[in-house]
Amino acid sequence: MNIAFDKTTGLVPAIIQDATTLQVLMLGYMNQEALDSTLKEKKVYFYSRSRQKLWLKGETSGAFLHLESVEMDCDQDALLVRVRPESVVCHTGSFSCFGEKSPKGFLYGLEATIRQRLENGSDSSYTRSLVEKGINKVAQKVGEEAVELVIEAKDNNRELFLGEAADLLYHTLILLAAKGEELQSVEKVLLERSKG
Ligand code: AMP
Ligand code: ZN
Ligand code: ZN
Ligand code: ZN
Repeated sequence: MNIAFDKTTGLVPAIIQDATTLQVLMLGYMNQEALDSTLKEKKVYFYSRSRQKLWLKGETSGAFLHLESVEMDCDQDALLVRVRPESVVCHTGSFSCFGEKSPKGFLYGLEATIRQRLENGSDSSYTRSLVEKGINKVAQKVGEEAVELVIEAKDNNRELFLGEAADLLYHTLILLAAKGEELQSVEKVLLERSKG
């Protein structure tokens, strides 16, 4: 990577983003050594400007950032680093340096959890036991939840309505996973349609 590190400081800003939800987690600075260590160890390193030394994020807190990808911006003077955070990222205890965990993109986090349950969940996992009953059973459950949502749509109980919408989305994610499909593929269909 041919990165335009700042001529006087030798640093490049690195935007840290959650690879699953795309929530922005923090901003840090890297020098060449921090970038090399990050790529080699697949854990994010920064250059700490206050302590003036190489900083492995999580070295004291255990909140490591596991590397998924690094991209440069259009003129190579900023990095976009996608990670899987091990726990809360900000030293204040909040999930991100820019606030708490966002509900936007949460479906992607849930999708990852569902996939993990199917791969190596315990026998007591609801998701796993449902999928083990077969695709027809999962699809039937999606149908049931859709009917429950329709029923609640006629009433004016917001809590029940939102609960059924959540049930439907959750079971739709399970059906997608059981079929070996991804939420992103559905969004891609919608994106293509919106171009029409
Ligand atoms: P850590 O690398 O998470 O073990 O944290 C080491 C030190 O770096 C902390 O005591 C903080 O002073 C600082 N620090 C950790 N995380 C952040 C962050 N997201 N933004 C700014 N400073 C941080
Ligand atoms: Zn730029
Ligand atoms: Zn912070
Ligand atoms: Zn329901």
